[in-house]
This record gives sequence, C-alpha cells and structure tokens, in this order.
Amino acid sequence: MTAKCIFCEIAHGRIPSVRVYEDEDFIAFMDINPVSTGHLLVITRDHYPTALEVPERILAKALPLGQKLAKAALAGVGATGFNLLVNNGPVSGQLVAHFHLHVIPRQRPGELPLKAGEPADLTKLPFTATAIRDNL
Ligand code: AMP
Ligand code: ZN
Repeated sequence: MTAKCIFCEIAHGRIPSVRVYEDEDFIAFMDINPVSTGHLLVITRDHYPTALEVPERILAKALPLGQKLAKAALAGVGATGFNLLVNNGPVSGQLVAHFHLHVIPRQRPGELPLKAGEPADLTKLPFTATAIRDNL
C-alpha cells in the first residue's frame, strides 16, 4: 500500500468503486471516466507502479483475466471489439501509478486517441530492432 494511491484506496474499500470481479490477485471495476460503455479497469490488489514491477506470476494471470472480462463486457454491452491497454509511466499517458489493465469494449471506431502512426523509415527499423534485441 502506497500513501495517497487512489487504486490502493479502492482495493482496500476506502474509496467506492463499482466492482464487477475480484479474486486473490485482482479487482475489476468500472472506469469512472469511460472511453466507451463498459470500460473496465483491472488492478492488482497489491501496489505495483507499472507492469515492470508486477511479479511474473501475477502478470501472467492478467491477460487471461482481461480475456474473461472482455468476453463478459462484449456480451454485456453489445460491443463487437475491444482494446486491452496498459499505460506504463507518465510519458505513456499513465495517470494512476498503480498497475491496471484497461478493458475497453468498442461499439464504434474513433472513440480512442490511439491511432496508427506514420509509415516507418525502413532503413532505420533494423537498427531499432537491434537496439531492442541487444537488451533482451
Ligand atoms: P491511466 O491513464 O492508464 O493511468 O488510467 C487511469 C484511469 O483511471 C482513467 O481511465 C480514469 O478514468 C480512471 N480512474 C481514476 N480514478 C478512478 C476512480 N476513482 N474510479 C474509477 N476509475 C478511476
Ligand atoms: Zn496503489
């Protein structure tokens, strides 16, 4: 538990949330500023700032849970697609520094700012790939 972490407060029931699911590792609740109808957040019970700090054992459960909740959300709100999104760090747009997976049912295109970028410079792409590979 970190002081003043709003998601820790939610996890401990000190701030209200509209919960849809919980288990020993995660709590899922409705996003208070939804991007679309049915937008959920899946948070870890324990405080980890980003995906980098979440133990692999727990992180490995996040995607299957996202799948389970997405299936329910699609059926529940009548959406035909969804986004699973994790922002990590302020530069990525992360506002709450407590690991969370967004489950965002999509009823229509254009609800999210996330779009394809510019075409890659194919002469630079191999160098970028090498820089990443060298750090694996
Ligand atoms: P991110 O930018 O990935 O950190 O997303 C944080 C999300 O938390 C945003 O979509 C907010 O709408 C949502 N949020 C912040 N406070 C609350 C709250 N008290 N209850 C539910 N969702 C919240
Ligand atoms: Zn926290």
